[in-house]
Amino acid sequence: MSKNKSSESVKVVVRCRPLNRKEESNGPSGGIVQMDLRLGQVILRNPRASHSEPQKTFTFDAVYDASSKQRDLYDESVRPLIDSVLAGFNGTIFAYGQTGTGKTYTMQGMWLDPEKRGVIPNAFDHIFTHISRSQSDKQYLVRASYLEIYREEIRDLMDPNHATARGLELRESPETGVYVPDLTSCVCKSIKEIEEVMNVGNQARAVAATDMNEYSSRSHALFLITVECGQPGPDGRKHIRVGRLNLVDLAGSERQAKTGVQGERLKEAAKINLSLSALGNVISALADGRSGHVPYRDSKLTRLLQDSLGGNAKTVMVATLGPAPQHYDETLTTLRYANRAKNIQNQPRVNEDPKDALLREFQSEIARLRAQLNHRKWRSKQKKERLDDDGSDADGDEDTECEEEEEVEKNAEEYVKREEQRLEREKEAIRGDRSLLADEKQRLLGEKERMMGDLRKEQEATEQLTAKYKAMESKLLVGGKNITDHTNEQQKMLEMKRQEIAEQFRNEREMQQQMMVQDDETLELRETFTSLQQEVEAKTKKLKKLYAKLQCIKAEIQDVNDEHVRSRQELEQTQNELTRELKFKYLIIENFIPPEEKNKIMSRMTFDTEEDQWKFQPLVPAESKPLQMKKRPTSAVGYKRPISQYARVAITMGTNNRFRAENIMFLELDMNPPNTASLARLRDLNQSFPVDNFPTNDSGVHKSNSWCQNQKSLTSSSSNVSLSACTTAMSASAQ
Ligand code: ADP
Ligand code: MG
Repeated sequence: MSKNKSSESVKVVVRCRPLNRKEESNGPSGGIVQMDLRLGQVILRNPRASHSEPQKTFTFDAVYDASSKQRDLYDESVRPLIDSVLAGFNGTIFAYGQTGTGKTYTMQGMWLDPEKRGVIPNAFDHIFTHISRSQSDKQYLVRASYLEIYREEIRDLMDPNHATARGLELRESPETGVYVPDLTSCVCKSIKEIEEVMNVGNQARAVAATDMNEYSSRSHALFLITVECGQPGPDGRKHIRVGRLNLVDLAGSERQAKTGVQGERLKEAAKINLSLSALGNVISALADGRSGHVPYRDSKLTRLLQDSLGGNAKTVMVATLGPAPQHYDETLTTLRYANRAKNIQNQPRVNEDPKDALLREFQSEIARLRAQLNHRKWRSKQKKERLDDDGSDADGDEDTECEEEEEVEKNAEEYVKREEQRLEREKEAIRGDRSLLADEKQRLLGEKERMMGDLRKEQEATEQLTAKYKAMESKLLVGGKNITDHTNEQQKMLEMKRQEIAEQFRNEREMQQQMMVQDDETLELRETFTSLQQEVEAKTKKLKKLYAKLQCIKAEIQDVNDEHVRSRQELEQTQNELTRELKFKYLIIENFIPPEEKNKIMSRMTFDTEEDQWKFQPLVPAESKPLQMKKRPTSAVGYKRPISQYARVAITMGTNNRFRAENIMFLELDMNPPNTASLARLRDLNQSFPVDNFPTNDSGVHKSNSWCQNQKSLTSSSSNVSLSACTTAMSASAQ
């Protein structure tokens, strides 16, 4: 695996959607987001602040305003990333932002309108067009998978039973990083096939959305494309490069307080939003650069994106904003996250000749099938030649490999046909031969029949092998061969020009941003003053500028503090709820579970860090300790096994054999716990009254009876009866 040590930062672009009809009807205040496309800046106005307060300005790799086109975003910000994936890098594009700000619109868009198709369909076009235009010595294998993370469970959207199946697990390997081992992976040979994968997955999500409220906005969707490319290297050997692309449509990042949920739903929301807050923490930890620990393990999403954030992938983050004044806080939070994400450094590298490349497996399988097939056909050809001319030399011709192969195929078919005809003729001859006995005829016919059966079986096996071989081969895409590129030369030129313009625009913006930074730094150096007055004026101007900057930073600090306080309050609230619940559970455990049972349970519990759950160890730990099994209790004298009172009575009475050996126990609970006074009183009563008239089980401890006890004693065990008996006895003694 080749290593390229150079690091590059996560590309962050911001997109603002237009005001929707509802927001427009709310008033003429207009949007709070302004954008400078040339400089890549977003200027945010606080609708609650006075006009004198400075506006907040953020600079990104690119910004797209309400009038931006899907194609512009793709050509400028996504195309270079997909090109890298095709060259063997890992790449990730994820959309982040508040619900309803256009994440799904940006990632998927409107499929039927070519102008409004989002990043994902454009990436499909891009990948397959690239393959169709590449050189014919390149072989490609494209695979796609689709998963979603719902309530911290990974679900395979290609699995028809995904809604009921158990969540998939994550694994980590040094070669591929974090991956989902059991995820369905579909080999796609064309745009149509990969779109089919997307549609099937989207329908699986949509169905669930009708069943559950707000479902779609609560799940994160990941579409994964793996492009493997095999090409002969300068050393003559075939090399394989594997690029993995993650296309991520995240759930909305709204704050819990804003959704107004409480109690049980708050906890549910906390779990659902866990991935997003974990993502925020990972971004903060990486952007900070000082904290050594990055909490990837806190959620499934961050683990899946581990390579994309601070790992070996190239990453583009599209932060989406809404322009409405009522969402100022969320917009600011999104911008802050996006701003922080700019500082994340990745170390992208090409995945060259990884061990798990499927392309290599496909190639060797195809070679094996081909050898098998050739052998079969060659065998048929040999037989045919032997049949054709007995003894004549067949090794005379010197064809090229391909021609020979074709000839072998033709000859094999011919051989089968001729062999069938010959067998048919022989059968006819046997039928017509009068010199043979009927039995003999039957036997010979049967033999010929069997030979024909064998021949057919062989032919079928060859056909199956051929079909398998062709199916395998068709999965591999050969540069410029399997897919026809329908665009004409003019369109191709147009596309190239558009890409060039996008590239130029990108470079221009980068230069502008660099110039702006340099301007600030060198302002002082360039200034020469002719008079004192001029110097005072210039310095006053500069002072004003710096003062404004200071105010901005002060306001920023205040904002960050406020946000910190707010999020702390939210966390405290969640903590309080959880503590209350914990106390409740503790109360139940302490008061209603016997301590020895509790200890037994606790000694069996272990925490599974991989699944983030407590688990029970099996009751009988291992086969290696069979001696630990409890012994059966020994039987009473004269009986084969331990036996209950009831069974003994049943045996002596000789009735109902069914219960003879069954140990049925009756446990009765006296629900009135006694106090010392009542116990003392009962002792007195027991002394002054015959025992038979009073219940003796008032101790509150559970008495065990067997079924054979008489009806009276069964009913008298109820606490009501005991109480009434007590009261009668007490009134009697009082008199
Ligand atoms: P999210 O996925 O962030 O919850 P959606 O992508 O579903 O939000 O967008 C919400 C609505 O806004 C949709 O009706 C979508 O068509 C519209 N929308 C979002 N972004 C844009 C845009 N850039 N231009 C036009 N309409 C947009
Ligand atoms: Mg969405």
